[in-house]
Formats: sequence, structure tokens, C-alpha cells
Amino acid sequence: MPQFPTRREALLTAGAAGLLAAARARAASLDDRPAVAPAAQTANAKFYRFSVGEARCVVFSDKSGPMPATFWGGSDADNRRTADDLLRARGRATDTVTAYFHPMLIQLGGEKILIDAGNGAAEGGELAALMSRAGVAPADITALVITHLHGDHFGGLRDGAGQAAFPNARVFIQRAEAEFWEGEADLSRSLLPQEWRAGMSKAAAEAAAFIAPKAQRIGDGDRIVEGLVTRLAPGHTPGLQLLELTSGSRRLTIANDLIHHDLLSLRTPDMPLAFDADTSLAIATRKRELDRLAAEGGLVMSYHMPFPGLGRIERDGAAYRWSPEPWAWE
Ligand SMILES: [Zn+2]
Repeated sequence: MPQFPTRREALLTAGAAGLLAAARARAASLDDRPAVAPAAQTANAKFYRFSVGEARCVVFSDKSGPMPATFWGGSDADNRRTADDLLRARGRATDTVTAYFHPMLIQLGGEKILIDAGNGAAEGGELAALMSRAGVAPADITALVITHLHGDHFGGLRDGAGQAAFPNARVFIQRAEAEFWEGEADLSRSLLPQEWRAGMSKAAAEAAAFIAPKAQRIGDGDRIVEGLVTRLAPGHTPGLQLLELTSGSRRLTIANDLIHHDLLSLRTPDMPLAFDADTSLAIATRKRELDRLAAEGGLVMSYHMPFPGLGRIERDGAAYRWSPEPWAWE
């Protein structure tokens, strides 16, 4: 069984990446190129607008940062060789990979629907600030879809005062998701480090309780609003939901945590991921859904793909490829 890093090891790895970056920056400052002041983080808009038929959409870059590559495949020697080769061939670091987090807004038929609530400001999430910059008030959100109860998707449910960050939103969650975390969440089929399990379960149970008064529990194939239908994709969590957005002849599949990395989730779809609640079910669901998406060839939005998270899935033998959608400014 692959060994995944402990939280301490993960933090050390993340810290090491920071030190490495600082060393590289110092080395770069010693060469004789003209000095160029780096742009302030706030110089980038960090959101991207696009349309799907009549639906006006905005993707927000809630956060990005390094994550240990060993979350894919643990310390197993074959897995590490496969992952290292994939990353190195594209000039990327092999110790850490960049993790991205992309909540999105859909304006359709008088509704303002937010898909996932981001990490929350306490975890470095910028969704609230970016929504303000994009001219969207939290009180304007009429519907909030939580794709599953992991902290990077529900952390922004509460504002700084602990109140509902989106006070007027009906909340939509899969019935299977809420019931799993409300009960004795069984993570025995997961490769998640043992010491993380209780904390993850407790946080998810608290989030389920917090949304319960406004939550509508839905099932596979249910309609959330006109043009937005849910699709159950169990494995990563028991009630992970994908979403199909349709407007006129245009369609977008919001696949979110079906995949977590543009190379490691697609080039090696059998690679186990530490965060999957049921490792083998997650792999089977991932491959089945990726087969479907590759056959359809349609536009896909995914929370953890590189910004802005829009692309298409292509088949490549027994594996797949992420093909980013070219940018187009609206
Ligand atoms: Zn996630």
C-alpha cells in the first residue's frame, strides 16, 4: 500500500518548496539582466468571464500554492517514477505540484448560482474579495451548490464573523454526501493519512450541520435550476456531484473533483489519490466519466485544473489528456 506523507511531512515539503523558490530568486538576482519589479499580487484580476449560451459565467482564482506530489501515489517506487517522469518531461518540479482552487459563478435566468464556496479567508481564500472586485455582492447569490464536503469547497461558507457568507442562497448538496458525513464517515477504503481522518470528518459534519437549514438534498439527475442538472459521481466522496449546464445549443460540464491535476489525474488515471474516500471506486468513476467526456468532446470546467480551469478531455490510449481551452476576452 502506498505511504502518504504525514501532515508534518507535507508542511515540511511545502516549506522546502518555499525555501527553494527563495534560493532561486536570490540566484536570479545575481545575474546581469535588468531588474524588473515583480507585479503586485493584486495587479491580476484573478477572475475570468465566459459565456455558455445565455449563461454568463465567472471563474475565480480563490487560491493556488504548492502541494506534495506524493498525494498522488504515495511513496510507492513505481508510482513515484511514473509521476516524476511525467512532471520532469514538462519541466515541472517533482517534489511539489501547484494546486489551484476555482469556485465559479453562473448567471442564468435571473439566478446567480455559485458553484462551491472556496477555501475561506482563514485558509487564504480570496473568493469574497474577488467577487467584490467583479461587482458581485454575496447577498445577490440566490443558489449555492456544494459539490462535496471537503474544506477547499466549503471553507468560504461563513464570513469572518461566522455568519452565512451568502445569506440569501438556497444550498444544494447531494443527499448521499450529507448523510455520509453526518454519520460515522467510513474512510476505511481511503489512503488518507490516519491522523487526518477525524479532523476531516468533524469539519465536514460541522459544515453539513451549518447548511442544513437552507439545504436542499438532491439526487442523481435532479434539476437545480432550469439549465443546471446534477450528476452523481461517487468515489472521491460518496456524494460528489458533477453539473451539466445547458443553454440553447451550448453546454458545459462542471467536473470539479473528478480530477485534481492536469497530468497526474489524466495521464495516470489509475494513480491513487490520498484524498479519495474510496480509492478503487474513485478510480473507476474517474475513468468512466473521463471516457464519457472524451467521447462527447465538450467544454469542461474543473476546480483544480490550472486557471481558469476550462478545457476538454481527450483520449490517449489507456489514458487521457487535458486540452486547455484558449482564452477569449469578453
Ligand atoms: Zn477539491
